[in-house]
Amino acid sequence: MNNKGLIVITGASSGIGEATAKLFSEKGHPLLLLARRLDRMESLNLPNCLCRSLDVVDYEKFKECIKEAESKFGDVEAIVNNAGVMLLGDLTDQSPEEWKRMLDVNMLGVLNGMQLVLPKMKERKGGTIINVSSVAGRKNYESHAAYCGTKFGVHAITEGARIEAALNNVRMVTIAPGAVETELLDHTSSEDIVKDYQDWKEEIGGVIRSEDIANAIWYAFNQPQGVNVREIVIAATKQAN
Ligand code: NDP
Repeated sequence: MNNKGLIVITGASSGIGEATAKLFSEKGHPLLLLARRLDRMESLNLPNCLCRSLDVVDYEKFKECIKEAESKFGDVEAIVNNAGVMLLGDLTDQSPEEWKRMLDVNMLGVLNGMQLVLPKMKERKGGTIINVSSVAGRKNYESHAAYCGTKFGVHAITEGARIEAALNNVRMVTIAPGAVETELLDHTSSEDIVKDYQDWKEEIGGVIRSEDIANAIWYAFNQPQGVNVREIVIAATKQAN
């Protein structure tokens, strides 16, 4: 019988979410993995793992997935709100649909995940919410205005919720990665911006791996419940900005 608590990970079908799922599974936790590409999560073949196709913007379906996982594995011990999209662009010509998608997934998706686990965590006086923001949630970069707006939002939401839940012994962690080698950049529609970004990554000799972020998430989670690592900022040594 597994006595480790249930971990919910959004955006678990690639990159940071996938690496985090593998690590928490290795550590013996049952998992609820959520993203739209079900096949990618199922192909990880992890034990004690429920995979469900979900758009994190869909509050009701998100709620059902958590209910189903809790009936199988018990209460959620932690949620990693990691699902996100980065659609880089200049505000003068970027499509408003791209702004909406980023606001929806990066902010509403995170708010949904938080509210769906918070009441029970507060009630039982324990639990951890880990939100994946970015260094782009602390400072601005060219072509990042709208994306930075959403990630500054993730920082603000997490810190605000931390203050609200502190006396209920619920931890709130913001993870702020620099550039990580994942599929994230693939969705940016401007070929010039993608090329400049790729060139910069090559110039500095490559960036960090999803596994590096998974280790940081594990570090924060694995502290005693009375210790809240509020924020981890983690980037390649050669990433100057
Ligand atoms: P990936 O593109 O590899 O992963 C993004 C994940 O989010 C995928 O699993 C994707 O799954 C999921 N996702 C996207 N939209 C939705 C949606 N509407 N509903 C549910 N899931 C969704 O990139 P990363 O691993 O890099 O990104 C993970 C997080 O890390 C993001 O929040 C990103 O902003 C952040 N980050 C990444 C950095 C980087 O350089 N890579 C740097 C700083 C922060 P699917 O498409 O199957 O739904």
